[in-house]
Amino acid sequence: MKTFLASCQELAFPSFCLGCQRRLPWRRLPLFCDDCLSGITAISSPRCLCCGAPFATGEDHLCGACLQRDFSFDLARAALAYQPPITGLISALKFQGQLSGLASLAALARASRGFQELSAPDLILPVPLHPQRLRERGYNQALLLARACFPERRALIHPGVLLRHRATVPQTALSGTLRRKNLSGAFSLIQPHMVNNRKILLVDDVFTTGSTVDVCARILSRAGAARVEIFTLAKTF
Ligand SMILES: [Zn+2]
Ligand SMILES: [Zn+2]
Repeated sequence: MKTFLASCQELAFPSFCLGCQRRLPWRRLPLFCDDCLSGITAISSPRCLCCGAPFATGEDHLCGACLQRDFSFDLARAALAYQPPITGLISALKFQGQLSGLASLAALARASRGFQELSAPDLILPVPLHPQRLRERGYNQALLLARACFPERRALIHPGVLLRHRATVPQTALSGTLRRKNLSGAFSLIQPHMVNNRKILLVDDVFTTGSTVDVCARILSRAGAARVEIFTLAKTF
C-alpha cells in the first residue's frame, strides 16, 4: 500500500515513461511503461562467448573473429540491443545533454545478463572523449555511465588513465580498414603503471564494430593488463 507521502510525491512530481512520455503511476526505475519495456531487447544467449556477437540459434560459442583472436580484449558484454527507445535515449544523453534517462538506463544495464558475467575489476576506465569534444559537451557519457552502473565501485573509476588525443570520424561512417586507420594513434595511456597486472573494465555507450574498445584494449594489454573486459550499455546488430 502506498504511503500518503508517496502519493503526495507522485502528485507533485509525476513520473513519465522515457519511451512514450505516458504518465506512470510509479516512480521506480527503470521509468518505462510496460509496453515500452517489452520493446527493449536485453541481450542474451546464444551469442559469442568472447565478443558477445549474437547468433540466430544454437548454444553460446566463439564466433569466427574471436576464434582467430581478432580482438585484444578477453570479454565484451552489452546489456541491450541498440534499438528504439534505447537509441533515442543514448542520443539524447550524448548530444542533447539530457541526463534524465541515465538512472533508468543504468538500472536496465545492472539487471542484464552481461553485467552479471563481468569479472570483478581492479580498475574501471571509461572510453575517453577527445578533450575538445569533452569541452563542447561538458561531460563524457561513458564516465557518467560507468558511475551510474558501478556506484559501489566508484573508487575504481579512473577517467584520466586513457587519453584520446585525436578526434576521430564516427566509426559507423567508415569501412573496416578505414576504421582501423581512423583509430590508429588516437588513444594513449597516460599512467601505464596503473594497468600493469590489473584486471581492467572498459566502459562505453555503444559497441558497434568493437574497433574503438579494441584499440584501447590493445594499448592496455601491451602495458601489461592481466585482463581486459568491455561493458557497453548497448550493442548494434
Ligand atoms: Zn512507454
Ligand atoms: Zn566473437
